[in-house]
Amino acid sequence: MPERVGIVGGGIVGVALARALAARGDEVTVLEKEGRLAEHQTGHNSGVVHAGLYYAPGSLKATLCAAGRASIREFCEQKGLPYRQVGKLVVAVDESEVAALDEIERRSIENRVPDLARIDDVQQLRDIEPHVAGIAAVHSPHTAVVDYSTITEAMAQDVRADGGRILLGHEVTAMTVEGGKIRVSTPVSDHVFDRVVVCAGLQSDVVARFVGADPSPKILPFRGEYWELASERTDLVNGMIYPVPDPRFPFLGVHFTRGVYDNVHVGPNAVPALAREGYRWLTISPRDTWESLRWPGAPSLAKKHWRMGIDEISGSLIKPLYFRKAQRFVPELRMSDLTHKAGAGVRAQAWGRGGELLDDFAVDQVGPVTLLRNAPSPAATSSIAIADYVIEHYLSSAAA
Ligand SMILES: Cc1cc2nc3c(=O)[nH]c(=O)nc-3n(C[C@H](O)[C@H](O)[C@H](O)COP(=O)(O)OP(=O)(O)OC[C@H]3O[C@@H](n4cnc5c(N)ncnc54)[C@H](O)[C@@H]3O)c2cc1C
Repeated sequence: MPERVGIVGGGIVGVALARALAARGDEVTVLEKEGRLAEHQTGHNSGVVHAGLYYAPGSLKATLCAAGRASIREFCEQKGLPYRQVGKLVVAVDESEVAALDEIERRSIENRVPDLARIDDVQQLRDIEPHVAGIAAVHSPHTAVVDYSTITEAMAQDVRADGGRILLGHEVTAMTVEGGKIRVSTPVSDHVFDRVVVCAGLQSDVVARFVGADPSPKILPFRGEYWELASERTDLVNGMIYPVPDPRFPFLGVHFTRGVYDNVHVGPNAVPALAREGYRWLTISPRDTWESLRWPGAPSLAKKHWRMGIDEISGSLIKPLYFRKAQRFVPELRMSDLTHKAGAGVRAQAWGRGGELLDDFAVDQVGPVTLLRNAPSPAATSSIAIADYVIEHYLSSAAA
C-alpha cells in the first residue's frame, strides 16, 4: 500500500531515495532547508564516481559503491548527462608507501574493481600519466567524473514527474511521533507522514536528536579546499592522480582530478571546520565549535590526529605547503600553476563517543523514522544503491 513518506534533506541521497519511492507509487515529500537542491556536500565535492578501491571488502561502502557506480552511469546515459571515464592512478612515490598500496590492490581485487592493473614499471606509469612521479601504482581505468548537482536536479525531475513534491526553503525544526505517524514542522509548514527518512548530511545528528536518537555518532565537519590548475597547464594531468591514503585517516589525501568540464582541480585537504557549513576559515559557528570541543571523543581524536591536524591546517593557511604536497606527484608543477582557490566542501564525518571514526555507511531507526547517520564519500557514487538498500531494509513491508 502506498505510504506518505517525508524525506529531510535534498542532497543526492535524499533525492535518489525520493525518486525510488515515487517510482513505486509512494506519496513523497522532500523538505530541503536551502533555496536549491545539492547546496552542501553534493554540490561541493570532487565529482568522482569511485570504482571501490579503498573500502573494506563486504562493507556497505564496498557493496553499495559497486552497485551505485553502475546505476549512476546508467542514469547519466539515460538522461544524456556527462559521464567521463578519465581513469585513476593511485601512486606510491617511495618505498614507504608500497605496503599500503599493496593493501589497496588487495581490497580492489576483492571488491572486483573492473580492469584494475598493478603497475611497477615507471615507463608504464608515464604512459598513463606522462608527468607523474612514482615507483608503483594501481590503475583503475573506469573511475569516472560527473556533475553531481546536475544529476540531483535530473533525479528531482523524475520525482516531480511521478507526483512527488520537493519543497525548498523548508527547514525541519521539529519532529514528533504521534499515534504511529510523524508530525514534521518547518517554520512555514506542518506535515504528517507515515514514515520519515532523514538524509541531512552535515546536520544528520542534529535532526536525529529531534526524535530522541542517541547523540552518538556525532558529525564533526572537515573542510576540504581545492585549488584550480591554470588552464594552460591542465595537460600535466590526463585523468586522476591520487596519493596512497593514510589508513589511519578517513580522507583520501590531496589529489589531481580532471573534472567533467575539463578543468583540473587539486585537493581537497582536510581541516576541522569551525561551522558545519563553514566553507571558509571566517565562517565560524560558536555553537558548532563548542559542541565539537566538548564531545567526549574530542580529546582522544585530537591525541590520535594532532600531527595530521597541524599539517593540514598549515597547508590550508600557507600555499607553499599545500603546493609541496601536490608537487610530490607532479614535479613539473609550479606554484603559479595553482591559480586560485576553487571552492571548498565540508565533509559530514561521523565519530563515536570514544573518538572512534565511523568508517562505514550507517543507518539507524527510531520508530517510523529512519536516520542516515553516516553517508560520507563514496555516498554520491552510491546514492542510487543507498536508496535501494534503505527501501529494502527499512521501508519495505517485509522490513516494517
Ligand atoms: C570535499 C568533498 C569531496 C567529496 N568527493 C566525493 C567524490 O568524489 N565522490 C563521492 O562519491 N563522494 C564524494 N564526497 C561525498 C559526497 O559528496 C557525500 O557523501 C554526498 O553528497 C552525501 O549526500 P547527502 O545527500 O547525504 O548529503 P548532502 O548533500 O550534504 O545533503 C544534505 C541536505 O540536507 C539538508 N538539510 C540539513 N538539515 C536540514 C533540515 N533540518 N531541514 C531540511 N533540510 C536539511 C541540507 O541543506 C542538504 O541539502 C565528497 C564530499 C566532500 C565534502
